[in-house]
Amino acid sequence: MADKEFNAFKMAQEQFDGVADILNLDQGTRELLRNPLREFHFSIPVKMDDGSTKVFQGFRVQHNDARGPSKGGIRFHPQETIDTVKALATWMTWKCAVVDIPLGGGKGGVICDPHNLSMKEQEQICRGWARQMAKNVGPINDVPAPDVMTNAQHMLWMLDEFEAIHGAKLPGFITGKPVGMGGSLGRTEATGYGVIYTVREALKELGIKPEDTTASFQGFGNVSQYALQLYTQLGGKTICVSCWDQEDQTSYSFKKESGIELEELLTITDKFGGIDKSKAKDLGYEVLPGDAWIEQDVDILIPAALENQINETTVKLIKDKVKIISEGANGPTTPEADKVLHEKGIVVIPDFLANAGGVTCSYFEQVQCNMNYFWEKDEVLGKLDVKMTAAYHAVSELSQKKKLYMRDAAYVIAIQRVAQACKDRGWV
Ligand code: GLU
Repeated sequence: MADKEFNAFKMAQEQFDGVADILNLDQGTRELLRNPLREFHFSIPVKMDDGSTKVFQGFRVQHNDARGPSKGGIRFHPQETIDTVKALATWMTWKCAVVDIPLGGGKGGVICDPHNLSMKEQEQICRGWARQMAKNVGPINDVPAPDVMTNAQHMLWMLDEFEAIHGAKLPGFITGKPVGMGGSLGRTEATGYGVIYTVREALKELGIKPEDTTASFQGFGNVSQYALQLYTQLGGKTICVSCWDQEDQTSYSFKKESGIELEELLTITDKFGGIDKSKAKDLGYEVLPGDAWIEQDVDILIPAALENQINETTVKLIKDKVKIISEGANGPTTPEADKVLHEKGIVVIPDFLANAGGVTCSYFEQVQCNMNYFWEKDEVLGKLDVKMTAAYHAVSELSQKKKLYMRDAAYVIAIQRVAQACKDRGWV
């Protein structure tokens, strides 16, 4: 999204093609897996608070459902495009496969900016999305969830509309619901915590103690905030975070060499993860340009914002001290930047592994909804840790054994599983 030429779907296909060669995949399987099975485009009319009617553009892409119902979030973003949604749906297929949960890949979106919409207007967008897609999504074929700029409240409005249409209680239609309304404890923390479970395992392999490390984060939304929380609990020190500034329409980095205190920073952060610049200065933060997060002399970088952030240009800013990059965001690193990171020997924990904690917990949410019995938070997070740790080690072992870049190793495992499911079903 950061520049006009970048196309996330082309990048997802390029990544796939490289691994299809390694796996020697046959032509039919390649053709099937490098494109989505289905895509939906639709209009959502909304009666705005000022009396006018505005029509928003909505999307849903179901990339592959050979291993189970399509699964993936719905993003609200002013620069959303169908190609970005297609890329994200593709990555969801690999994400569910690499952590070995019985789900396929999907993604949805609406071109809109929640910063400029009232709650009433957002509710109409959610209900409109559910109305348009009601016949093609549901607990047994495609299960949405929150993503960039959507949250538990949005999911509940969608569920309410979906249930009204179908005349039944169907909590398995959507995940990331509020706790007490079919949501799972731990779901809010899950993506960020999952990112740090993988960092913890990577540090163990490198023989480094978390308390001897420093980190810098891009983004200060849900993923980043919980990743920072767990990283701090493990003893790590975060010296920089960046975030989008809605007023200036650019991003800034906030640095404190002595270490960022999450609770303190949250007191000056809005609900979209935007940090107040002048209050930050009063609290002793240096306010730096948006890219500054990447050029910090730290051990760990955590990109947890959007696509195309570590690219041909910004990769040059990464300091030699950096040992681990764990991708909280989807698609933050371009194939050109991957080559540089591979040569440098940095351990890159790829997006669809690093941030799979969210969808894994969504799967637990579905299981709990089906039983109508909800687990304690420790049980949820314990199960999440087991899944993430096992997936990390499977990828790391393959990467070491076959001398593959971590992203390629993760792709080999995921693509093999999905290709096998397509074959077993007789699709290819
Ligand atoms: N939106 C999250 C992701 O990109 C979670 C998806 C889900 O829970 O279905 O992985």
